[in-house]
Amino acid sequence: MPLERREIAPEKMKEQMDVCRRLQAALGPGERFAMVDTYGCQQNESDSEVLRGYLRAMGYAITDDEEKADVIVVNTCAVREHAQMRVFGNVGALSHIKRVHPERIVVLCGCMAQSEAIREQVKRSYRMVDLCFGPHELWRFPELLERTIRVHGLSGNTSRVFEATDTETVAEGLPRARDGSVKAWLTIMNGCNNFCTYCIVPYVRGRERSRRSADVVAEARELVEAGYKDITLLGQNVNSYGRGLNEDVDFAALLRKINAIPGDFRIRFMTSHPKDATETLFAAMAECEKCAPHIHLPVQSGSDRILKAMNRHYTREKYLSVVETARRYIPELVLTTDVIVGFPGETEEDFLDTLRLTEEVEFDSMFTFIYSRRPGTPAAEWPDDTPRAVIQERFDRLLQSANAVSARLHKAQEGKTVRVLIDGLSKNGEYNLSSRTGGGRLVHLRGPEDLIGQWAEVKITDSNTFALFGEKL
Ligand code: SF4
Repeated sequence: MPLERREIAPEKMKEQMDVCRRLQAALGPGERFAMVDTYGCQQNESDSEVLRGYLRAMGYAITDDEEKADVIVVNTCAVREHAQMRVFGNVGALSHIKRVHPERIVVLCGCMAQSEAIREQVKRSYRMVDLCFGPHELWRFPELLERTIRVHGLSGNTSRVFEATDTETVAEGLPRARDGSVKAWLTIMNGCNNFCTYCIVPYVRGRERSRRSADVVAEARELVEAGYKDITLLGQNVNSYGRGLNEDVDFAALLRKINAIPGDFRIRFMTSHPKDATETLFAAMAECEKCAPHIHLPVQSGSDRILKAMNRHYTREKYLSVVETARRYIPELVLTTDVIVGFPGETEEDFLDTLRLTEEVEFDSMFTFIYSRRPGTPAAEWPDDTPRAVIQERFDRLLQSANAVSARLHKAQEGKTVRVLIDGLSKNGEYNLSSRTGGGRLVHLRGPEDLIGQWAEVKITDSNTFALFGEKL
């Protein structure tokens, strides 16, 4: 059953850009600054590029200094309780700026703002927030900011704008101010249909909507022409790309189309769901020479009982067979994963199943999380009587094992020559540059700063749990 796509008409997008110009004219000459503070995942980083793009079109210079920002935007994440608490702490701390400069504008947006309970809390207890809107409203940020500035007036915080609808949209032509000039995010889809029982994403970001392949390919081409060399295709579940589109395209086909763009660049993607990671995908990865030999394949648990409770739609055996297929097609594959420890009802036996699976697969790196209860998700209602100390002890054991595996795999890289893309500065002792291998391994090296943005052949001379160290040849 095709999903409903609600596309924002090009005229509507044009209206938003007209608002940007109108605001710029109304605010008059003089320097103005805006800051965007981002929490959470790459999807949010990508949304922040749009926020900055719009702010620039309104005439704001982007700053990291909240003391001088006329507009402070906090782009929030709802995936973990800890991140949410940090947002509230940091937003609360902005009251000192509002006391001295009541004319300044504080915006809270992103996933947290999609929750009605959170919006009520912000209305009641975070009076310094002038505008609060959810992720579905991102495309009309200029219109909302203009309304806020109008109701806000010059006197300060008397009236505020709160906006969040459930209209799941696909918008093209969003302006973007990208960070850096080497690596770029490219959102290919939004939302998720999977409803893993611990995850809030489908409730805040809505159901899956893919962008048309022609729009994605055109944006990829622009990035390559602008000199970007590392493009990461983003979506909550990129492997289901294409569902609901009126064209015969899937993620493997999209990879091939992007791979056909002339130029020396790399294609990455995240995140993949094991249930949708098929042989067709691995065949396309093997065939596309620009596709990085890396897959982030979140396993979450190694226990069939817990995987079922999580609604992940695969078993431990199925996951292992997906890994086996992937490695058959791409022998040099770098495999990374996410694991949740302490899901409600997890026993020691369940945990040992996870530990054994991760040791069997040997992930290059693992992102390990302690389960975070998200109100509104099914798992939040389930009894969770494992003592915190027991969960912490399991987490520590898993981390120790993961680190040992990473260190061992990194050690095996010593003496090899690898091609890397030098992507920035490193603060690692005498190593001043950072770079990534095709598989995404971090390599620190030495050299002049003007090497940033260039490919290099590097001999790996040393390693630790988290990175490799090398000499440029
Ligand atoms: S696949 Fe599951 S964990 Fe990932 S975003 Fe969708 S619901 Fe959340």
